[in-house]
Formats: sequence, C-alpha cells, structure tokens
Amino acid sequence: MNYKSTRDVKVNVQSAYAISKGLSSDGGLFVPEQIPMLSKEKIMSLCDMSYADRAYEIFKLFLTDFTDEEIRYCVNGAYNDKNFATNDIAEISHLLTGTYVLELWHGPTCAFKDMALQILPYLLTVSAKKTVDGKKISILVATSGDTGKAALEGFKDVAGTSIMVFYPEDGVSNMQKRQMTTQEGSNVNVCAIKGNFDDCQNGVKQIFTDEKVIAELEKVNTVFSSANSINWGRLAPQIIYYISSYAQLVKNGELEYGEKLNVVVPTGNFGNILAAYYAKQMGVPIGKLICASNANNILTDFINTGVYDRNRPFYTTVSPSMDILISSNLERLLYHLTGENDRLINEWFTLLKTEGRYEVSDVVKSSIKDIFYAGCCDDTQTKAAIKEVFDNYSYLMDTHTAVAYKVYEDYKAKTSDNTKTLIASTANPYKFGFAVYDALGGDTNGIDEFELIEKLEQLTNTACPAALSQTKNKPVRFTGSIEPSDMASAVLEFINK
Ligand SMILES: *Cc1c(COP(=O)(O)O)cnc(C)c1O
Repeated sequence: MNYKSTRDVKVNVQSAYAISKGLSSDGGLFVPEQIPMLSKEKIMSLCDMSYADRAYEIFKLFLTDFTDEEIRYCVNGAYNDKNFATNDIAEISHLLTGTYVLELWHGPTCAFKDMALQILPYLLTVSAKKTVDGKKISILVATSGDTGKAALEGFKDVAGTSIMVFYPEDGVSNMQKRQMTTQEGSNVNVCAIKGNFDDCQNGVKQIFTDEKVIAELEKVNTVFSSANSINWGRLAPQIIYYISSYAQLVKNGELEYGEKLNVVVPTGNFGNILAAYYAKQMGVPIGKLICASNANNILTDFINTGVYDRNRPFYTTVSPSMDILISSNLERLLYHLTGENDRLINEWFTLLKTEGRYEVSDVVKSSIKDIFYAGCCDDTQTKAAIKEVFDNYSYLMDTHTAVAYKVYEDYKAKTSDNTKTLIASTANPYKFGFAVYDALGGDTNGIDEFELIEKLEQLTNTACPAALSQTKNKPVRFTGSIEPSDMASAVLEFINK
C-alpha cells in the first residue's frame, strides 16, 4: 500500500514517509492509493478482540511497510489501561434504544484527539527510523485547543522529538488554556497567537515550506513533522474506532451484521468524519454520515450547495474546537470523489487561496449528497440540547457532542430515518464546563474553573476527571503571546535553544 498526494498523483511513497513528512511538498495531503476492503468475516473476527488487537488488524492494511512487531509495539504502547480510563478505550453509551454515544474522550486529555495522538508518537518515531534515521523530529501544531494538549501529552519527553504548539489567544476554553500552559516535559513549548485558529494553521503551514527555516533546521539535524489531522498518522487511527464500534455493537447484540449504522460527527477540520467515510468505503455497513457544525457552518453550506466560501464572518462559539473556516481534510474527500483528479484539486485549492471560494462539479455535488447530510446549530440550541439530554437521560454532554445531538434531532425530524445511529462524542463535559454549567441553569458569574468543577459535580452528580481537576496544583509554565507574523522566529528560537 503506497500513498499519493492529493495534488500530484505521480507521488508514490510508503506510509513511513507519509507519516514522517506530514504534508507532501506540493502542498497536497497524503492519501492511500487504494482503500482496503474488509470482508464480513474479517469484521466479525474483530468482535472478540481487544481494542488494541482490532487496531493491529486495521493498521496492517494501511502500514504495509511496518513489520508486525512494529505495529504491535505501536498499538500496545498507546491503547492500554494506563493511558485510557476504560478497558474498551472507545466506550459506547446508550441514550435510548438504537441511539448510541461513542465516548472518544477517556484518554489522558479528555478529548477525542487522544485516540490518535496517543499512538502518533509511536507511529512517527518508527517511521522516522525508516526514513530520516538519526535526525531529530520537531513537531509543530496549530490547535483550536484539544489537539495541542493531546499532542503535548503524546510527545512529552519522547526521545528524538520536540514539540511546539500555537493556539488562538482568545479562542480556547479556560480549562484548555490551563491544560496547555501547565504542560510538563523538557521538549515542549506552548505559545498563544493574537489571532484565530486559521491564523495559527496558516502560520504553521507556511513555516513547513519556509526555505530559510528549513535550512536552519538542517544545521541542527532536525526535520519538521506535523501532528495536525493533515498527517495520515492522525487519520488512520481514527478509522479504527468506527470499525471497532460496528464490531462491538454486533457483539453486544445491538446490530445484526449488515444492518446499517448512521454516524453523526461534530465537525471542524473534517478529520473525524473523514475517518468515518474511510470506514464506510472499506465495507463497514455505515449508512448516512451526518456532518454537524456550529455557527461556523461553512461545511453545512458546502455539503448542501457544493460551494465552499470562506468569505464570511468567523464566530467564537461555546464549541471552540469546531470554530474553523478552513477544513483541511475536505481535500482528501474531494480527491476521492473526483476519481483522484489532482488537476481539479489544484484548481479548487488555488481558488480557495486566491478568492476564498470554489465550487465543485455536479458529479461531486451529487456524490456528496448521497453520502452526507449536513446541519448546524447556534450556541443557544447547543445549550438547550445539553439541558434536554441531561433532563431526559441523565447524560451529561459537552458542547461539541451537543451540536451533533441537535443536528441529529433535526435530521430525524426532517427525514424520519430511524436507522440505528452512533453519535461521536468528542470531549468530556468538564473540558467545556462553563458553557455546560450555564446550559443547565447554573450561575457562572465570578467563579473560576475550579469552583466551577465543584458546582458542576454537585449539580449533575458526575465526577470530573482527575486529569482536569489536578491542573489546579500545577504551575503555569508558558505565558507568551505573539503576532501570527512572528511565528517563524518563535520556532527558530525554540529549535536553537
Ligand atoms: C477537534 C475536535 C472536533 C472537530 O474534529 P475534526 O476532526 O477537526 O472535524 C470536535 N470536537 C472536539 C471536542 C474536538 O476536539
């Protein structure tokens, strides 16, 4: 299995190269040359396996240049009960018959990013040995909050690596900021940006191809890599939990094999839902993919009209990890839906850069509509959904999951589709505690994030994960805040330290 670039089909590299480079030098994203198919027997054989064993079976199909021992080393290092608070790793809760919540936040930082970022350091260090042996790896991350912390936890003190994280100064929750600025480890750095997430992401993308910075890196025997969801090593691990969930629901007697399962995903950069698309293309009986957005509803418009237009206001919402106007992973979907037409992809993404807008062909529009449904909701609706779910099911959802729930309710009302459905739950509610407490009618005036934890625990009778409450006793290590234009020099300073 080799990998191509979405912007140049002549690129032909192994997975170790794709993972250690992150982004292709033509600016494209690495994509598998073909999507491996899973037979019924294969999926049924996963039913009685642990999560790590299921992951092993799936990775074998994608990482064909890794040895079996290397894949074992990666999955066992990541998916164990030391790193995750549940043996299932990705736990499935029931809301009501046929509606399941896939809790992807039992990892060390309480958001779904851990599902990929616990294993990425293993995948990356094994890949680097094969491709750039002896060189150090410097990870740059642009984050809307959750990726940054999850990447820091994954890479802290990993030999041969260092990591620098940029986050929008006013675009993350108090708890997210607290988690990042108190990060431990000798190879880490965290920096606030006076701008939004897209500024962070553009800055990082530019640094990756900045000749001057790359030359400076070479002097210290270091290469860049990316832990953002543009890296194939982030995406591949996310495919696994959709396949694993289907097998688990069959095992639990909730699904007959072959029965369709709809999947709802609260979406930002389009990574998580793209992983569900890959699982569907691999033969898992997945029905509709329901793409849920907050007030930054660029994807809703795109899926409904075929026009991607970023010339629109940017909103700061209570689901900040979805406050994004450029969904990078969409490029992979379009590459597949155009029949791997790199010329069209170049055309559209050049237009996105120059005009901020592109429109896909009619063929692509209609295949998108076959596969996806898209909807959005605002903060008021998000908060109402949190309250509704808590009142009706005593289940506490975070703001991102609540967006998914609300869009799913709208979908059911509109289509009467009662196919069994899996809602991807992407964060523990305590990560976005202020909005959650407010949604339940609590008064957040004048309280800090730790008083808030106590109040939310009392009100809901649910426990805050220790990983969040313990940030209280940790010293703040990173206080810097810079303009987007100063990101490259900040990176050089860190590298040369
Ligand atoms: C990152 C994130 C999302 C969005 O996921 P994408 O893969 O970027 O679409 C949704 N919810 C939470 C809590 C996140 O951290």
